[in-house]
Amino acid sequence: MEKIFDNTQVAFALKSDTELDRAYFLFKMIDNQPLVRIGTAVTNFALKANLPVEGLIRATVDHFCGGVNEVDCLSVVDKMYTKGVSSVLDYSVEGKEEEEQFDAALEMTLKTIEFAKERQAIPFAVFKPTGLGRFALYEKLGEKQTLTADEQVEWNKVLARFDLVCSEAHKKNVALLIDGEESWMQDAADDLVTDMMRKYNKEKPIIFNTLQMYRWDRLDYLKKLHEQAKKEGFFIGMKLVRGAYMEKEIARAEEKGYPSPICASKEATDENYDAAVLYMVEHLDTMAIFAGTHNELSTYKLMELMQEKGIKTNDDRIWFGQLYGMSDNISYNLAAHGYNVAKYLPFGPVKDVMPYLIRRAEENTSVAGQTSRELSMIKAERNRRKGK
Ligand SMILES: Cc1cc2nc3c(=O)[nH]c(=O)nc-3n(C[C@H](O)[C@H](O)[C@H](O)COP(=O)(O)OP(=O)(O)OC[C@H]3O[C@@H](n4cnc5c(N)ncnc54)[C@H](O)[C@@H]3O)c2cc1C
Repeated sequence: MEKIFDNTQVAFALKSDTELDRAYFLFKMIDNQPLVRIGTAVTNFALKANLPVEGLIRATVDHFCGGVNEVDCLSVVDKMYTKGVSSVLDYSVEGKEEEEQFDAALEMTLKTIEFAKERQAIPFAVFKPTGLGRFALYEKLGEKQTLTADEQVEWNKVLARFDLVCSEAHKKNVALLIDGEESWMQDAADDLVTDMMRKYNKEKPIIFNTLQMYRWDRLDYLKKLHEQAKKEGFFIGMKLVRGAYMEKEIARAEEKGYPSPICASKEATDENYDAAVLYMVEHLDTMAIFAGTHNELSTYKLMELMQEKGIKTNDDRIWFGQLYGMSDNISYNLAAHGYNVAKYLPFGPVKDVMPYLIRRAEENTSVAGQTSRELSMIKAERNRRKGK
């Protein structure tokens, strides 16, 4: 496969010199690990104390988010689409526990489905299961515990919220991604999403679940789901990711004394990820893939598979996805070569998107003394522009 992701000119075509400089200083700061650790602690305190927060936080928010609300995001959506890169509006408010907050997330998801229906540049809507219901309820159901009468009433509301967003997505013909979260709540979410696929994926994949391939049990899960889908006559939509909660997963397994659900090594996760991609590409007659990854090798592998099997680059059953503010070298070069690509564009009040931003900051700190991927790409483009 021709190596296309090193083209930083295509990657950063939408960034002015000033914007590129800003991104450079941001990643330089993030790259300095102790600062991120101190920074996140101080930031959390500042936000809780309602202190005005400026500087680094503002820069981080601007870099990784589309705005405070969905309308703020539209200028970014349109700009990215001039280069063929689509958007997924992601209401990134996390960790809420109240019924009103779940209803607010429901309303927001319905709004983004409507936005997506009206705009070619927004091919998917997305939500998180714990955005629509209490984490502890999913956990209890996953552990096969019986809910109390009150909890059952509460869970019925979660079911109704799921059904409403999925039926609207189906009615409006907007594909809907449902994020994956911690393994100890995921079983209940998986059952629920499978019910939604059964109901709304009869003609084509509209509802997409997420498989976190850092879990060693997920390929088997996919194969079993496939058997079920064939028998019952529904399509599978799946976002394939590696998974974002590794430390938490390992710590909990250790603390509670059960075997870790995470693959034994990074290499094992990589193999597992690529195996799931292969399995799905081989069964595209009944499946659609959203490959959510910043991993260049996995992305090249999927492109290669498509070429080998004579699948068109813009086949609507295969989408590539990255996060806004990261891996533009992958997104923009994929789009320039005619592939379907969409970036998650997070939005929400600054206070509420902090857990999301902290995950991004931690992800972008240097690994084993190497400069982070983002920083080296930005450096390369700055040098190219200076004629170095
Ligand atoms: C569009 C999009 C949507 C996403 N949606 C979700 C979601 O719904 N749920 C979710 O959990 N995450 C989600 N993510 C985040 C994703 O799971 C990864 O955390 C992130 O993308 C980094 O993985 P990578 O494939 O890009 O690449 P890489 O940088 O190659 O892989 C890093 C990942 O490998 C795994 N890993 C690292 N070290 C080890 C080790 N020692 N042993 C085993 N595994 C290891 C971890 O999963 C780590 O995040 C999403 C990402 C994108 C781009």
